[in-house]
Amino acid sequence: MNTTERRCTDKHHYSLADLGWTAEHATAFDRYNGDYVAGRVSCRQKTSWEVLIEGELVTTGISGAMKRLGRYPAVGDFVVLLRQPACGTTMIVDILPQRTRFTRGAAGREGSNQVIAANVDTVFIVTAAGRDLNPRRTERYLAIAHASGAHPVIVINKCDLADDPTVLADEILAVAGSTPVITISAATGEGLERLLPFLEPGSTIVLIGSSGVGKSTLINRLLDQSVQKTSETRVHDQRGRHTTTVRQLIVLNGGALMIDTPGLREVGIGTASEGIDEAFPDILMLAEGCRFSDCRHEQEPGCAVQQAVRDGVLTTSRFNNYHRLVKELAFEKAKAEIGLARMEKKRWKQISGHGKLVNSVRAARDL
Ligand code: GDP
Ligand code: ZN
Repeated sequence: MNTTERRCTDKHHYSLADLGWTAEHATAFDRYNGDYVAGRVSCRQKTSWEVLIEGELVTTGISGAMKRLGRYPAVGDFVVLLRQPACGTTMIVDILPQRTRFTRGAAGREGSNQVIAANVDTVFIVTAAGRDLNPRRTERYLAIAHASGAHPVIVINKCDLADDPTVLADEILAVAGSTPVITISAATGEGLERLLPFLEPGSTIVLIGSSGVGKSTLINRLLDQSVQKTSETRVHDQRGRHTTTVRQLIVLNGGALMIDTPGLREVGIGTASEGIDEAFPDILMLAEGCRFSDCRHEQEPGCAVQQAVRDGVLTTSRFNNYHRLVKELAFEKAKAEIGLARMEKKRWKQISGHGKLVNSVRAARDL
């Protein structure tokens, strides 16, 4: 099947390939027979999901089993729908494996309910010339992007405000490692063509970054105005009223897909533990020289990381930011554990209540 031929200007006439469907998804979907169709979640409401399937957009719910398991599909998820032609209804019955995922906060028991976007290929970490051009903040977003599994690209916006855009990039290049750094101006359109290699048809992108750096301006640039307008849809809320929602997964003119959902743009450090290591490969490498394998690079003797700071190999600011992110993550984890402990305690109360009952029954029997 030729996907370019299949792509149609009509807003809902997408093939699965247009929507980013991969061989892995196809393999995972193989075990479902003809009553099932696959699609991609384009909008998530509280209790309903909009799913783009081949040639059509459906608004649907999830099965009772998924509700019980707390398996709530996120925007970008590929899902399996059961069609019941007799009554003309559909229902989501499964989520296909997520290649990458952005999660909210620390992972709790709710599991997939915490996913805010799934199957993202590329993350544009947007920063801007001026006050926001902050390598420390960029390190943080790099950790978040790496933790998701998607490929980061650092986008320095507002280059029209800089005297020399190359100087602008230099500061960020120092923390970028192998991550591409691209300077643009969303306002003037300068440099936007440099983003094209990351906007391949069927690939999914998201934008993250602090507020004010120009994410909305860039999104509007990437979108054709008409696409944005037609992507408004009317859905029924629980009270049966019509509400207007803006599609959270949008097919751009060139065929790339963009996810823009509340909470994603300012996503937190959350579960970025593996991401921190990937954002600081230099520290990870230096740490191999520490005397203790569990060295926290604080006050320990024989710490190669601290030595590197003293030697001027590692900057103090990068070292301090690393510690700040590690501490922040520990705090998020502790918060999540407190939440878990509360749940455990509640459950324990129920069990021990039950235990008391058993004991008093035994006591009565023994009398
Ligand atoms: P967001 O909070 O990240 O979505 O940022 P916005 O897109 O709302 O932009 C914040 C401000 O920066 C607005 O006043 C924009 O007009 C301005 N802005 C965005 N991109 C550029 C740019 O490339 N150059 C300049 N000079 N201003 C920009
Ligand atoms: Zn150390």
